[in-house]
Amino acid sequence: MQGRMSAQPFTLFRTKVAPGKRTAIDIPVSRDAADSVVSLPVRVIHGRKEGPVLFVSAAVHGDEISGVEVARRLIRKVSPKSLSGTLIVVPVVNAFGFVANSRYLPDRRDLNRSFPGRVDGPLASRLAYLFRTEIMERADFGIDLHSAAMHRYNLPQVRVSNESPRALELARAFAPPVIMTSKLREGSMRAIAHEIGVEMLVFEAGEALRFDPMSTRIGVNGVLRTMQAMGMLALKRPKRSPHPTLEASRSMWLRAPRGGISSIRAESGRIVKAGQTLAIVRNPMGDEEFAVTSPVDGIVIGHSRLGVVNRGDALIHLAQIGEADTSLDPDTEEWFSGVMLDEHEVV
Ligand SMILES: [Zn+2]
Repeated sequence: MQGRMSAQPFTLFRTKVAPGKRTAIDIPVSRDAADSVVSLPVRVIHGRKEGPVLFVSAAVHGDEISGVEVARRLIRKVSPKSLSGTLIVVPVVNAFGFVANSRYLPDRRDLNRSFPGRVDGPLASRLAYLFRTEIMERADFGIDLHSAAMHRYNLPQVRVSNESPRALELARAFAPPVIMTSKLREGSMRAIAHEIGVEMLVFEAGEALRFDPMSTRIGVNGVLRTMQAMGMLALKRPKRSPHPTLEASRSMWLRAPRGGISSIRAESGRIVKAGQTLAIVRNPMGDEEFAVTSPVDGIVIGHSRLGVVNRGDALIHLAQIGEADTSLDPDTEEWFSGVMLDEHEVV
């Protein structure tokens, strides 16, 4: 990064940020029913030297708070003095849902299905419009932080479009336990990013309404490694990922065969074989028992935390591995078959 040009001031929402400075900018979204202004809180960390612009966002789904802690730590860790380029952090995109412990906007709309958004649309659409025009269109690359929905846990994982080689390259730099390549979902931030030429990663980790140390640490270190790969900062001790990364492109939900009491036998992070029992659903009297078995060799990337289930409830999210995807070497298998999720202190 030596020899880079000094940066020019960076302007966001009519606010000019000098090189080597950090600034708080609140972009007004609306007034709520009690007449309080609700805004999109943004922190801009503008490096002394020029370089790419990266946005990091969290709580697009208001109850998915694990990324909020990742964003908070990034704001504290990244110094504008040693940064090349600009880091835009939006720790709480959906402030309405965040304060109400809800995934949605007050009108029950899902922000991540409301892109590209309209300035005069419903609240979710207006918020999507503001985020797209003020944040996404100013950036070269983005990382959006999510968790599993309520009552589910996600193994820390990065999702990238199978049409974005650059995003896959940066997902590998992020080095999460699992990279899932998948199609883009209509109305999502990732789909509209692709359309406007901003590549991005989605990081999924942990459970809605909960913080967990492993998700936080893998998230913070992953974003820092991605920034290093983008030439934005040089880590003093390169933070090598302490675990291998598996790549998969096919995943499936295994569902409860009937209602009953659920017992998960293979939690997130477990490598499993075809035919292995991953969950058991029993009736409360204890005289009937149904096993949910794995149809393929794979790794559990998400699991239900609900004890009582109905027929068809999602129990296990399984990514297929082997064959076309990464094959397992013995070290990798040993790491994943270890105590990863029993001890939340692996990294
Ligand atoms: Zn989400």
